[in-house]
Amino acid sequence: MYDYLIVGSGFCGSVIARKLAEELDKKVLILEKRDQIAGNMYDYPDENGIMVQKYGPHTFVTDKPEIVEYISRYGGWHEYVVCTEAEIDGQLIPSPFNFKAVEMMYPPDHAAELIRRLKARFPGEERVPIFMLAECGDELIQEYAERMYQKDYIPYTCKQWGIPPEKLDRSVIARVKIVLSYETKYMQQKYQLMPDVSFTQFFGSLLDHPNITVHTGVDALEHLRADTKTHTVRFQNGEASVPVVYTGPIDELFGNCFGRLPYISLDIRNFTHSEDYHQRTPIIVYPQAEGYTRSSEYKYFYGQKAEGTTVSFEYPMPYDPDAPIGNIPYYPIINDENLQVYQQYRALANQFHNLYVCGRLGDYKYYNMDAAIERGFEIAGEIAAR
Ligand SMILES: Cc1cc2nc3c(=O)[nH]c(=O)nc-3n(C[C@H](O)[C@H](O)[C@H](O)COP(=O)(O)OP(=O)(O)OC[C@H]3O[C@@H](n4cnc5c(N)ncnc54)[C@H](O)[C@@H]3O)c2cc1C
Repeated sequence: MYDYLIVGSGFCGSVIARKLAEELDKKVLILEKRDQIAGNMYDYPDENGIMVQKYGPHTFVTDKPEIVEYISRYGGWHEYVVCTEAEIDGQLIPSPFNFKAVEMMYPPDHAAELIRRLKARFPGEERVPIFMLAECGDELIQEYAERMYQKDYIPYTCKQWGIPPEKLDRSVIARVKIVLSYETKYMQQKYQLMPDVSFTQFFGSLLDHPNITVHTGVDALEHLRADTKTHTVRFQNGEASVPVVYTGPIDELFGNCFGRLPYISLDIRNFTHSEDYHQRTPIIVYPQAEGYTRSSEYKYFYGQKAEGTTVSFEYPMPYDPDAPIGNIPYYPIINDENLQVYQQYRALANQFHNLYVCGRLGDYKYYNMDAAIERGFEIAGEIAAR
């Protein structure tokens, strides 16, 4: 018999399981729909022995030393600073855009003058939101901002979220920052890490506790019933009403009774190549290409020394649970309409006395991995306080 049932073995579910098992000495059963643990972080060696990530490129970034200390309990990590380029008008330029990008896009005299004016207009600033460039009153700088909107941010955002350019609200991308130096870091967090071996091995270690049992390949919704009369989530035909931590899509838990919450999904296509490296940078983004948004070469991520290499391309598409491709919910589409629907589900979930809904699918919110861990801590704390 188990004290807690947890649905999903991503960061949120796994961190909660470990806390309940270790700190409260509770017996935990995890049900995972996929055939593997680790949620979206799942990685594996492909047929050429190259470690790849099944659900898109992930690197661990955080500003919080306590989160680094936590993940270090369950595996070794090494620094890995993400670098990205954007393919624009047939050439690869650093992304986020820095002074090198300016020099690649403009003739030398123009570039030198633009850099001089950027430094003078924003003294001491490392990164500035593009809207500040667009509104600064200097024509040369404003032309640069407009060019980047038109060539990168607008087409990329429209392709990623499936919206036509005329319907794009520019304020959505106005906060994207331009770099005012030659720095090439894609992300700004203090700690940028990759597991020494793999995310999957890390999760194996996180879940390796005598109080934790994991069943993969099990759709928990076939064993759970949300009883709206007693406001109890029942497990296994109603016999048991153990506390349930649910990290799957909140709408599916309630039979989509208020309608489906939309997501962007991805078709991820892997290509192997015989050369040592295929791209000159780990990640390339493609604002102007037809269909795909990003390619990632995993060998860089893991620092692997294998023969050949694997590159994955991401094609965004609407999430459709019944389609053969695009049936994985990746990015919640956050807007007022969808949040209103989400709030209806949240209000319903709050009425259930033995239910905790969390994680990126349960909270209908984009979490980075460190935020998903913190959400796990929060829920484990709530459970302990009860
Ligand atoms: C393409 C992409 C790239 C990303 N890159 C980064 C990055 O570089 N750095 C970063 O910090 N974050 C990144 N993220 C975010 C990261 O993936 C999330 O932070 C993380 O997945 C959140 O963990 P979670 O436990 O909430 O959800 P998940 O990892 O999705 O785990 C939920 C689990 O629940 C299971 N489940 C759902 N329904 C059921 C059911 N009915 N029965 C049983 N099991 C069920 C699912 O199969 C899944 O395993 C990225 C996200 C995407 C989409």
